[in-house]
Amino acid sequence: MVVARRLILATENPHKVREIRELLADLDVEVVHVGELDDPPTLVETARTFAENASQKALATAQATGDLALADDSGLIVDALGGEPGVRSARYAGEGATQQDLIDKLLGAMACVPDDRRAARFVCALSLCGPEGEVGRWEGRVEGAITRAPRGDGGFGYDPVFYYPPAGMTFAEMAPEAKNAVSHRGRALQQFRRDLPDILERVGP
Ligand code: IMP
Repeated sequence: MVVARRLILATENPHKVREIRELLADLDVEVVHVGELDDPPTLVETARTFAENASQKALATAQATGDLALADDSGLIVDALGGEPGVRSARYAGEGATQQDLIDKLLGAMACVPDDRRAARFVCALSLCGPEGEVGRWEGRVEGAITRAPRGDGGFGYDPVFYYPPAGMTFAEMAPEAKNAVSHRGRALQQFRRDLPDILERVGP
């Protein structure tokens, strides 16, 4: 019997786990979330780039478990705010802030920004590590604009204020599959899926 290779998702964010699971559902790997482990590693992100933060989380998890680990570090970059909230997207409104707090803070900071200067993008860095180190990294981006008020109740985080022009909707108004097909995370995961067979062959059982 061939046992599927374990892939540990090194993220504590349940929304990301759901999206990543949906996007990797048909792969020949057993996707396990760190929260399902008996002794989960502590995930810290103290670096200054998405890519380094993703590597930090993936490596800590791979070393703690001996398995391959995939981490996502992602966030929103708003041009009119000099790139904020960026790598601080989850902590932009302070530790323990709710999604509503994040949105309120962002819309407050953007209150005086005119419509033609509200460009923003989501960025997602993925890192795949084994216990010996990083074996691959990928990045996905999606361009959009910040709305003046939240719209829609799907997705998570900043989705209700992220307008995606090709769909004419915010990410929170789009069906989950429609968001996944074009999102920063979806795009990074599509590249990851394409490269995974070669990587699995390279790193062995
Ligand atoms: P981190 O990668 O765990 O540091 O958190 C990234 C933060 O960026 C999340 O908590 C969200 O606030 C935001 N973010 C990342 N991806 C998305 C997305 O797909 N939609 C909305 N917000 C997102």
